Amino acid sequence: MTSPQSGGSAPDKFVPKATPETQPYWDAAAAGRLDIQRCTACERPFFYPRTSCPHCGSEKVAWFTASGRATLYSYVISERPAPGFPTPTVIATVELEEGPRMMTNIVDVDPTPEALPLDLPLQVRFEQRGEVAVPVFAPIDGGDR
Ligand SMILES: [Zn+2]
Repeated sequence: MTSPQSGGSAPDKFVPKATPETQPYWDAAAAGRLDIQRCTACERPFFYPRTSCPHCGSEKVAWFTASGRATLYSYVISERPAPGFPTPTVIATVELEEGPRMMTNIVDVDPTPEALPLDLPLQVRFEQRGEVAVPVFAPIDGGDR
């Protein structure tokens, strides 16, 4: 896969831009993997990508591939129209099986509180936006694709 790049025609949907710290994350996503970092000093995983550990400050950080499993931690159902996104859109914080939390979208789910119980088991998917594959999450049970 090619590296994410900006420029050219402007896509309708928000496309994240890679930085040196996040490039391995986007490269992994393009390959269908959810890679996050862990500190090799205190062994704690963390997200978002950084050059030093948010827990102990060590700069001994390493990438590893997460399971892609997560649970729903909190969410909002956004009714605000945004280019390229369905309305409403579920904007969520999920807790990865490894512990870190990340902001994402929940897809393939009814955008209703009834369909979005907290701790709902989720699995990562990758949504292609322009040249960038963006990790999103879908329910493990109940998704019909
Ligand atoms: Zn640490």
